[in-house]
Amino acid sequence: MQLIQLVTVVPVFLMGLIGVNETDPAALGHLDVVSQLQLIHQFNERGQLEQARILLDQLRPAVEQQNGEQAIEFFLAEAHNLGLRGEYERGRQRLDQLLGQALSPLERVRALTLAANISTLTGDHGDAFGFLRLALPLEAEIDHPRHQSNLLSNAAAMFALAGEPEQAMELGFRSVDLADRSDSLRAQCSARQRLASISRFNSNFSDQAQKLNDAIDRCRQAGDPIFLASLTTQMGELLRRQGDLDQAGRFLDESLALIEQTNYLAGEPATQLVRAHLLRDLGEPDSAFQLAAIQVEPLQRNQQWRHLVDAYQLLSDTAYQRDDHEQALMWLEARVRTGERQAAHERERRLAYLQTVFELDQHEREIALLREQARVRALSSQAQSQQAYLRQLSFGALLLLLILLVLLLARAGRERRHFRNLSIRDSLTGLYNHTHFFAKTSKLVASGQAGQSLCLVLADIDHFKLINDRHGHLEGDQVLRRVAERLREAFPPPALIGRIGGEEFAIALPNCAIEQARDCVEQLRRAISRFRSESMDSSITMSFGLVADCDRRDIDSLRELADQALYRAKREGRDRLSVVNETGELHA
Ligand code: GH3
Ligand code: MG
Ligand code: MG
Repeated sequence: MQLIQLVTVVPVFLMGLIGVNETDPAALGHLDVVSQLQLIHQFNERGQLEQARILLDQLRPAVEQQNGEQAIEFFLAEAHNLGLRGEYERGRQRLDQLLGQALSPLERVRALTLAANISTLTGDHGDAFGFLRLALPLEAEIDHPRHQSNLLSNAAAMFALAGEPEQAMELGFRSVDLADRSDSLRAQCSARQRLASISRFNSNFSDQAQKLNDAIDRCRQAGDPIFLASLTTQMGELLRRQGDLDQAGRFLDESLALIEQTNYLAGEPATQLVRAHLLRDLGEPDSAFQLAAIQVEPLQRNQQWRHLVDAYQLLSDTAYQRDDHEQALMWLEARVRTGERQAAHERERRLAYLQTVFELDQHEREIALLREQARVRALSSQAQSQQAYLRQLSFGALLLLLILLVLLLARAGRERRHFRNLSIRDSLTGLYNHTHFFAKTSKLVASGQAGQSLCLVLADIDHFKLINDRHGHLEGDQVLRRVAERLREAFPPPALIGRIGGEEFAIALPNCAIEQARDCVEQLRRAISRFRSESMDSSITMSFGLVADCDRRDIDSLRELADQALYRAKREGRDRLSVVNETGELHA
């Protein structure tokens, strides 16, 4: 109630300051929209409510064509004006519409502060706290010290009334700091006035006096008679309680003069009541009683319950002093009834505050819970993806291991084959070595069926020593490799070929008739004798011994026979084949 009352009454002498004709807002129509909106704000702040209303009506059609920002500014000014004129419901409707729109943080804070103000005035304390709770977190987002200060000082007053003096003082101090950062003396005065008002809830005398003095100084500079009237009344009351009755009287006189000057009638009963207390302190209980008695009606009308309780108490006390016990009892009863009403109001405010805080805390807890749930979900999905990743990783590792194993096995196989080859083959020619050739041939002899002959050929290069001597060992090696190639060409599988000595070779021909073997060897012998190395002018020749086995003899005796045949071929002049039968007789 106090908020509106302080500004509803027009401080007449301020009119001249804005330099406009206050009686004819129609003359302002030529100004642009922004300037007109500024003027409406000034009219509102200075209590020139009718001028503001007329200008608002004039501007309405133009604003409807304007962009969003100016329309929002217009509705804020209109809601402010409606609130100041006591049209609370329409004011709230405008603000509800505004709050449903997209607003900048600053616009939202201003709308919420106004809505909280109006809700306080209509006794909707729950709404008021709700609006403040929405506005306060936005305060940090805006950079407008005057509006920030206004929000915080409103919140400070509300928290003080709700029985939260410490929070209220903190907000009050911040509000003063912000106001000092703005260039508005009026805001600096207003923030100090609020801080001084709430300091009565939990401050000592000197602290309160200092805050009141500070506020009075600033409001004198700002030239704001209404705040000054309220402050000087408070100062008078404080000094009276301290027993400094002279000083108290002077402040009360100043306050009443200001009230008269500004027509600030709503402030008068409270000030007069303090004066009535002062009269009683000065030993004039009858005058005190009379002055207090005429404040009852306006205090009831303005629903100023706290002051009314105070007035009834004073009336009862002074009646008692006069020994008028009947009157004293009557006023005491009124005091008790009004006191209950006042307490009910305070309880209601406190409850509304607690309810809002409770709902907010619950809301915050719910949000925290939801956040926690979301975090758990995120963690579990992270864990799942990590598990999937690990599975992929281990699968990959397994696969890698498998590939490695296969590669190792393949390599081992290759190496095994290589070593086996080394163990069974001659490294120069790739033919079977002596041991392996005879082992294999021995098996062949043992497994052969009756009637199937096996031929064994021994071959030796003629005068190989001479080749080495003439052309060197490297050339000799080359000759050995070429001879091996010819042997492979001449005796394809299933024939077995081995290098059984330096320049000696052996060929086992399974299931081969002796004539067929003879033809093959002869063909080879002729082919070799035509063979010439690039660096050799002389031809190479070979001698051969052949034996055919039909009686399944052992390999040693076969070899013996073949050796004899070869020896004979050498003896008979080399470059020839000598064939013996199973009995060692020369074959035709
Ligand atoms: P014959 O006609 O009587 O067989 O005469 P030969 O010279 O071929 O016989 P001999 O047994 O007297 O000599 C064989 C030579 O073969 C002796 C040796 O130096 C040579 N020899 C043995 N193994 C290798 C080899 O791996 N590489 C080379 N270049 N020479 C070898
Ligand atoms: Mg030899
Ligand atoms: Mg030889």
